This record gives sequence, C-alpha cells and structure tokens, in this order.
Amino acid sequence: MQSFLQYNPTKLWFGLGQIERLQQELGTPGKRVLLVYGGGSIKQNGVYDAVMEQLEWMKAHVVELSGVESNPRLTTVQKGIALCREEGIELILAVGGGSVIDCAKAISVGVYYEGDVWDIITRKAEATRALPLGTVLTLAATGSEMNNISVITHWDKNEKRGWSSPLAYPAFSILDPMYTTTVPLDQTIYGIVDMMSHVLEQYFHRTDNAPMIDRYMEATLLTIIEAAPKLIADLQSYELRETIMYAGTMAFNGQLSCGTDGGDWASHQIEHGLSAVYDIPHGGGLAVLFPNWMQHCAEEDPSRMAKLAKAVFAIQPEGKTEAEIAFEGIRRLRDFWNSLGAPSRLADFQINDSRIEELVHKSFMKPSVGQYKIMTRESVRDILTRSL
Ligand code: NAP
Ligand code: FE
Repeated sequence: MQSFLQYNPTKLWFGLGQIERLQQELGTPGKRVLLVYGGGSIKQNGVYDAVMEQLEWMKAHVVELSGVESNPRLTTVQKGIALCREEGIELILAVGGGSVIDCAKAISVGVYYEGDVWDIITRKAEATRALPLGTVLTLAATGSEMNNISVITHWDKNEKRGWSSPLAYPAFSILDPMYTTTVPLDQTIYGIVDMMSHVLEQYFHRTDNAPMIDRYMEATLLTIIEAAPKLIADLQSYELRETIMYAGTMAFNGQLSCGTDGGDWASHQIEHGLSAVYDIPHGGGLAVLFPNWMQHCAEEDPSRMAKLAKAVFAIQPEGKTEAEIAFEGIRRLRDFWNSLGAPSRLADFQINDSRIEELVHKSFMKPSVGQYKIMTRESVRDILTRSL
C-alpha cells in the first residue's frame, strides 16, 4: 500500500425521514439560504415542500436559484455567485442530483474569488474560502454528496472540466432513499453505470498489497450487480433504492482509494469531452466508453481485468489464458449494462465519427490522461472508434 490520509468531513444523515435533521444543521433561526435546484423534479415529487417546511420552521430567508442544467453550466454558477453576493447568503442548500450539487460547490468557492470562477475550475487559481454547503440528494449516481469534486461545463467553449478543492466537501448531506423512488428509468440506469464506473476506475490501480481495498471494491460492485436488475424491475422499491443510494455514496467518497495510487480516470476524462460536445448524460457516455477502454487496456495488460472477472463475474479460470479471462469479464460487464438498458454504442446517441478529432482533443484538457495506461492521442482515438 501507499501512505495515505483518510479524511472526509461531510456529515452524512442517511435514511427515511432524515430531512428533519435540516433544522439541526441550520443551527440558528433566520439564516440566509440560497436554495439551488434543477429543472423542477423536486416540485413534482414533494421534496421541495419537505425542504421548505424545514426552512420555514427555522425562519430562514430563502433565495432560490432554479434551472440548474444536467451537465451544469458556468453561466448558472455565475448567476448563483451574483445572488449570494447581492443577498448576503450564509449557507447554500443544493437539492437534487450531482449536477445541482456540483453547481452549488462552484458557487460556494466562487463567491470569495474576485476573478472569474472559471479560473478555479480550470485550476489556474486556488479556492481560498467557501460558503458552507449542505445537500439533499435526490438521485443516486455521482457521489458528489460526499466528495470534494465538481464538474462544470463552459458551453461556449464546449469544455467540461472537473475540479476539486479541500473546501468543496459539503458540510452535511441528507440522503433519504424515498426521495429517489421517482427517478425515471433512464436516469436510474445512468446512475448505476456512473457509480459502478467510479468503483471500476479506482479498481484499475497498480498498487501492490491492497487486498482490503480491492475487496471493498469487489463487494461494492457485487452489491450493485445484485440489486440493480431488481431495481430496474421495481423502481418504487424503497429497500433497493436504499441499497443503491448507499452504494453510490460509498463508491466515490475517498474510501476506495485509501492506500492505492487512485486508479485510472481516463474513461471519465474521455466522457467529459463527449458530454462537452454533445451534451449527453454522463452515465450514458460511460456505459459506451468504459468497456472499450477496458478492452483497449486488456489487450496490452489483462491482469487487473482478469482479477475483476474472477472476483466479480465469477469467471472460472481453468484452461483459460489471463487474456481470455479478462475478455470474458469485459463481455460480462457489457452484457450486464445492456441488460439494464444502458446504451452500448455512440450511435445510440446519434453520434458518428464526424467530430472524432475534436473529441480526442477535448479529452486532453489535463496534461495527462490515464494512469493504469497512459493514453496517447492514438489510444483515445482507438477507444472512441471502438465505441462508434
Ligand atoms: P443530474 O444531471 O443531477 O440529474 C439528471 C436528471 O434527473 C435531471 O433531469 C433531474 O431533474 C432528474 N432527477 C433528479 N432527481 C430526481 C428525482 N428524485 N425524481 C425525478 N427526477 C429526478 O444527474 P447526475 O447523474 O446526478 O449528475 C450528473 C452530473 O454529475 C454530470 O455533470 C457529471 O459529469 C457529474 N459528475 C460529478 C461527479 C462528482 O464527483 N462531483 C462524479 C460523476 C459525475 P431536475 O433537473 O428537474 O431535478
Ligand atoms: Fe462520474
């Protein structure tokens, strides 16, 4: 293992009815709160009313920022920063999925930065201070509710950038699985693919002697693989939503990278290029790209893919080469996602090869891409071509 610090300051309130903890988290009455949400799902499913009841109880002064896009945009972050300054906001409350939370994180640090917050997002400047942020999660997917990462799109430049800061952890997150029972089928599937990708990306590390973490990851994947098909057939099930919601948070809150080199996030980087140009759902892009990234890497070094195939997909190794085991495991992953209803080709999003060079270019927004396998432009082009 490598030396590491395990630190996560986000307070997690998990379970039915935990929204009542919001009063306690607000602390004092009369707080000035920026309520951030998306396109209106929270108004249809009652979550908005439940949150407002708590805020009214605490006599909070509520300012609203609604309409946060899926793949949240810089312009909305800038709008939120202006509102915080005009209204003297003391706490940001994000109610929604990863997009709403990511947008709120960028607002929280942008308020104290004199220049354009895009500087922080593109890592030209460091965040030095942040408004406290609380979240009420309504979609199990990103893990943003318990990590310090945020992904923002500059639509005019067609750039989608991930950034992080020690200041970007939510102070608290409230997770009531009941709130996720209204997530539609497609978003449920994308969420499952996203959280599995987070585990898989951390799994493709090259650190020796990390059996505990490897098994945490295998257990997380096995749990999701067991629950996901049942959930797809029964979207209202509280118990299955509960399992998937907890899995999504644990998949990407830092614990699965303890002691390893952190894994390989090339697929996420290539996917960000894809969403930046075509504005497709993040989990949908990953479902297409990830197996092709695995296949591309396994052809050179199948060792980790073979380990995954045996531990998670129960592939019997007798009489097979390591590469054969690895390829069978990749096939099983692809088949599993397809069986849930996830897309498997870029053509499913009406994407062809016409902008492939632009996609390759957009994947290299950071100086290097990949760690398990360092990507060249040719590698990325190969993965995208296999994905068509
Ligand atoms: P999302 O974009 O937040 O939400 C997707 C859709 O689901 C929206 O249309 C939303 O509607 C709807 N929705 C949410 N909760 C719902 C509910 N309870 N009932 C009905 N509909 C509901 O999806 P996401 O997958 O959570 O977030 C995706 C973003 O996160 C991408 O930009 C991705 O790159 C980023 N990401 C971040 C991290 C991280 O660590 N920070 C990790 C991976 C990905 P409304 O808008 O109407 O609410
Ligand atoms: Fe993700």
